[in-house]
Amino acid sequence: MNREPLKRRGLLLVLSSPSGAGKTTLAKRLLAAEQENLHMSVSVTTRAPRPGEVDGRDYTFLDTTRFTALRDAGGLLEWAVVFGNYYGTERSQIEAAIARGHDVLFDIDWQGARQLAERMPHDLVRVFILPPSGRALEERLRSRNADSDDIVAKRMAKAADEISHWPEYDYVIVNHDVDESYRALTAILTAERLKRERQTGLSDFVRDIEREL
Ligand code: 5GP
Repeated sequence: MNREPLKRRGLLLVLSSPSGAGKTTLAKRLLAAEQENLHMSVSVTTRAPRPGEVDGRDYTFLDTTRFTALRDAGGLLEWAVVFGNYYGTERSQIEAAIARGHDVLFDIDWQGARQLAERMPHDLVRVFILPPSGRALEERLRSRNADSDDIVAKRMAKAADEISHWPEYDYVIVNHDVDESYRALTAILTAERLKRERQTGLSDFVRDIEREL
């Protein structure tokens, strides 16, 4: 009897939210629970590494010349300018992963999500995380002592811009409670993995069943 998992095509899971809405916590938890099947997309960026960030793990850090060369050669699946720096997703990394049946998690902004929706609509699952209120978001941003008032103000403006794009997402989770939000997120992932068109091994599997009948 065939006990191998059914072959399937991986999916692209985009998790977006304004910073401070709890996206990073949810993403870390999901990645820890799904070490086999879900991998974080490592973006390329022209921004400088922050203390503790590792090249090739957190981002691939490129200068602007190398970034634009990669982009102009068609090497990026999507790219955007955020806070004055370039960010992008390398095409080769993503296409290879989903062909192998691996899912990829993205931490990209709405501009990137929109481009992925144009280029790979059938592979994309977009989830937007909303904060329970504007005040809660501001409090979370202020409690991050690493950020100056100026940066908090910039992030609040960016948050308003980001939130306005919620209708472009397939699922929306209001993050009242992180455990509840996490359960919702895993339910989405489970259901999306079971979509018939992603289960590319189904025809063979059903043929085997039919032979036994
Ligand atoms: P940070 O510099 O704080 O790591 O990221 C700043 C913003 O850039 C975040 O909103 C993040 O979602 C977005 N971002 C990071 N990587 C990418 C990417 O590859 N493409 C796009 N479009 N946005 C990205």
